[in-house]
Amino acid sequence: MAVVELNSIVAQKVEVAPGLSIIRILPDGWELPLFKPGQYTVLGLPGSAPRFVYSDPEPNPVDPVRLIKRAYSIASSSKEKEYLELYIRLVNSGALTPRLFALNIGDKLWLSPKAKGMFTMDDVPKDQNIILFATGTGVAPYMSMMRSQVINQEKRNYAVVHSAWNSWDLGYRSELLTIERLCPNFHYFPVISGPDKEPMPWQGHTGFVQQIWKDRIIQDAWGTEITPENTRMFLCGHPEMIREMVDLLTESGFKEHTNLDPGTIHLEKFW
Ligand SMILES: Cc1cc2nc3c(=O)[nH]c(=O)nc-3n(C[C@H](O)[C@H](O)[C@H](O)COP(=O)(O)OP(=O)(O)OC[C@H]3O[C@@H](n4cnc5c(N)ncnc54)[C@H](O)[C@@H]3O)c2cc1C
Repeated sequence: MAVVELNSIVAQKVEVAPGLSIIRILPDGWELPLFKPGQYTVLGLPGSAPRFVYSDPEPNPVDPVRLIKRAYSIASSSKEKEYLELYIRLVNSGALTPRLFALNIGDKLWLSPKAKGMFTMDDVPKDQNIILFATGTGVAPYMSMMRSQVINQEKRNYAVVHSAWNSWDLGYRSELLTIERLCPNFHYFPVISGPDKEPMPWQGHTGFVQQIWKDRIIQDAWGTEITPENTRMFLCGHPEMIREMVDLLTESGFKEHTNLDPGTIHLEKFW
């Protein structure tokens, strides 16, 4: 089998919390592809790449040459031409993430020359509000969406509802709080599911993103009823959250969006 060239370089690694990192990747001598906010890229490393020292050992031997590839939503702005930013969780037993977490600045990896995916705001009419629900690293595509446009010049409302186990796992929290301060039409709802572990009592929302919807917190913040006619829903991350949110939203008249059958719920499952 031909050896695939590792065509990109790790430029920056920021540890949000143990096992949770924001990574910037530079193309090595080629131009990044154009992409739409919300799309994903693919990263790859050969089986021979070392695993992160604290991850689980591989249960079976792997082909040292074949690239292990996985999809990652792009978190950087579509206007950013120098690097792609990704927000990645370590899956200790996984095939690729233990290898990604062993990389250092300057190390090489494979980056797809194309971005893909339909999880974009392209089909959303300009007069409709947008609610973006995420678990964990599922906030990545929303960062790209928020960073790629000047939302305070728009007439519609935006909300990001982001859940994590603990406050320290809420990646991009300070940036989202800043956007909220700067843009009156943007609301950010961080939610944690393990408040008992907080070093100081957590004053914010607890539970999962589903609770924010059930408790009508966004309606209250916007001061308006949320209907399938005036709002589009985006769901990204844990498959269980997506399943439960689709059920809840369907009860309120929202409908899953597909290319062939347009609807009001856009979703991206991470596994
Ligand atoms: C369109 C798309 C976009 C994605 N974007 C991101 C992203 O922005 N950030 C990100 O971290 N991941 C993202 N993922 C998930 C990513 O592609 C990998 O599945 C993940 O990084 C695990 O890869 P792995 O090879 O280490 O584990 P694998 O060997 O592929 O997985 C082992 C098992 O771990 C479980 N698992 C997979 N992913 C997770 C997870 N995130 N948390 C907990 N358990 C998991 C599954 O049960 C899986 O069967 C995305 C997936 C898709 C399809």
